[in-house]
Amino acid sequence: MRSVRIDDFPHGDLRLFLTRDRIRYRELVEKTLNVFEQYKVPYILGATPQLLQEGDIEFLNKVVKGGKVVMHGFTHGWDFPDWSNVVSCWEHGGEFASHTRERVQECYSNGLTTLQQVNSFCEEDFIPPFNCYTQTVLDVLKDTNVKRIHTCDKEWDAYNYNKLEHYNIEPVISKYGVTYSDANVVVNNLSDTSQITLHWCYDAERMGWEEDYHTLCKELIK
Ligand SMILES: [Zn+2]
Repeated sequence: MRSVRIDDFPHGDLRLFLTRDRIRYRELVEKTLNVFEQYKVPYILGATPQLLQEGDIEFLNKVVKGGKVVMHGFTHGWDFPDWSNVVSCWEHGGEFASHTRERVQECYSNGLTTLQQVNSFCEEDFIPPFNCYTQTVLDVLKDTNVKRIHTCDKEWDAYNYNKLEHYNIEPVISKYGVTYSDANVVVNNLSDTSQITLHWCYDAERMGWEEDYHTLCKELIK
């Protein structure tokens, strides 16, 4: 069965995150993941190690059973000086834009130490926040257990990622507005076989989002 990529644990959007409390968001993540667990649809959940707070490891160990937790960047760019303008770093590599090789190595290694406490953590997939990365990131990841790096055709095309040396790391490319969208859009595009990518933190802002997740899962298990 197709595996679904779900980004953003504990959250992906700093502005949105500040509008609600973390308990509310953990409840929404749990609701999201429970749907995939219920239908036994396999998924990878991107978790950002430096954003994890007290109790999050236990939370993931309780909720994630049929899916895998994978690394979703290091800080998700939340340390960027001006979040409202975070888009400006995308073309330079997103949260890794100014990272030296040493910094990527250190952050990756610290991220591993954090996420290895999660029972379902899998080192084989890496999801760069905003789908953006750099050659330096690939140079570091080639010496790790990462086998796949996830992105989207919008960034792949805009930033010429085909020109980067990916070594043995397979780029997994979702299609913007097709398989990379809200669940109620993706469900109508399942004839496209590219990687499905969902963002619970935006889906959950929409009325009826839970029903969309049920509909999508029912289609995926057909
Ligand atoms: Zn994200």
